[in-house]
Amino acid sequence: SLWQRCLDRLGRDLSEQELNTWIRPLQVVESRHRLRLLAPNRFVRDWVRDQFLTLIEDAVGELSGDSQAPQVNLEVGSAGVRPRRQKAEESSDQRPKAAEVVIGSRLVADHTFENFVEGKSNQLARAAARQVAENPGQAYNPLFIYGGVGLGKTHLMHAVGNRLLEQNPRARIAYVHSERFVGDMVKALQHNTINDFKRLYRGLDALMIDDIQFFAGKERSQEEFFHTFNALLEGQQQVILTCDRYPKEVNGLEERLKSRFGWGLTVAIEPPELETSVAILFRKAAQDGVDLPDEVAFFIAQRIRSNVRELEGALRRVIANSRFTGQPITLDFTKEALRDLLALHEKLVTIDNIQKTVANYYKMGIKDLLGKRRSRSITRPRQVAMALSKELTNHSLPEIGEEFGGRDHTTVLHACRKVKELRESDARINDDYQNLLRTLTS
Ligand code: ADP
Ligand code: MG
Repeated sequence: SLWQRCLDRLGRDLSEQELNTWIRPLQVVESRHRLRLLAPNRFVRDWVRDQFLTLIEDAVGELSGDSQAPQVNLEVGSAGVRPRRQKAEESSDQRPKAAEVVIGSRLVADHTFENFVEGKSNQLARAAARQVAENPGQAYNPLFIYGGVGLGKTHLMHAVGNRLLEQNPRARIAYVHSERFVGDMVKALQHNTINDFKRLYRGLDALMIDDIQFFAGKERSQEEFFHTFNALLEGQQQVILTCDRYPKEVNGLEERLKSRFGWGLTVAIEPPELETSVAILFRKAAQDGVDLPDEVAFFIAQRIRSNVRELEGALRRVIANSRFTGQPITLDFTKEALRDLLALHEKLVTIDNIQKTVANYYKMGIKDLLGKRRSRSITRPRQVAMALSKELTNHSLPEIGEEFGGRDHTTVLHACRKVKELRESDARINDDYQNLLRTLTS
């Protein structure tokens, strides 16, 4: 059966334990157009939805080849009997249904502005997205959001889409991953339906293309996209794009596209500050009906710095463990639950590692970094490395000073202040710092 093949396929990406715990217990009802997955309870359903649904959908899509893939439905229930109780459960489920789009994937219903925690790191991107949602085609066109993985780009895009559909349920909206766009276009070329493809895209009210770095090197797709893009801008139809880096830095992307991206607004989204991470954890925990102790939130947030998705993953793991074992979420419980995960994160971030990474980044020797020379080109990286050591490790100022060629703790303190000040006034230094932070923590 399709599901059987799907299980085989999932076996490539998931561990045996994950398969046994979450996937195999699902009951399956297959028909040509629908694959119903029945979870024994809401908890399993939510977990499978959040962790594995995309994988499952992708596998089903792939295995269906050219024919229309059946729709995957994940619900609470059991096969054969469709008891009343289950219906009641379904209808008491207040979660909004995923919004339909004209082309591409559905929008995740809870990727809304309300569920997006604002912080300094994402303020600008959020505000811009909000503007676009309120004034599509008028505010900024295109809106271009860039930043590292797991920082909320896709969430914001869906938030715009959800809002547009809320305001006008008949709005014609497309949300497509750039790989899907390329794939669809190739198919259209093969089947001689490229004109339909064009018409479909050009008739949209809003087009959202995610992760456009995958356009790199795909010339024909870029060409097609370029024309679609121009047509949409001319018609004042909204275009929103995301990318994992600044557009100019994507190799293999045509210059004319890059320059056109700059016609609207380009905003960065950065790794969250500690406070934002903590706020996100509280928000997600509350959504799950869990009361998270402060010290636990800070503990997790301090250790996972560069990626909100991983932050969420860690929290989910803690909550799941607590539900399974019936133990309360305390600091010790959390440390235990995340032990292997944190080992991964902590092993990397030592002062030694920071020094090597910084020296490497600024193309200088460790000797100079730790030495006595005081020219600007050396003191800056040195200060950056000290500030990173303070931010990323639990070492005290005197300990850090010691590791930096036996410097005094006041020197370290001064470095931290200086770097903070520079990051606020000098975008270049801030970029460097963010890059280093990302390299060191991901
Ligand atoms: P990206 O597309 O940048 O890789 P996503 O949008 O997929 O990242 O975000 C990863 C996860 O983190 C999602 O579950 C998203 O809801 C969550 N997330 C990211 N930023 C925030 C935020 N500021 N508030 C709440 N959730 C967030
Ligand atoms: Mg994304």
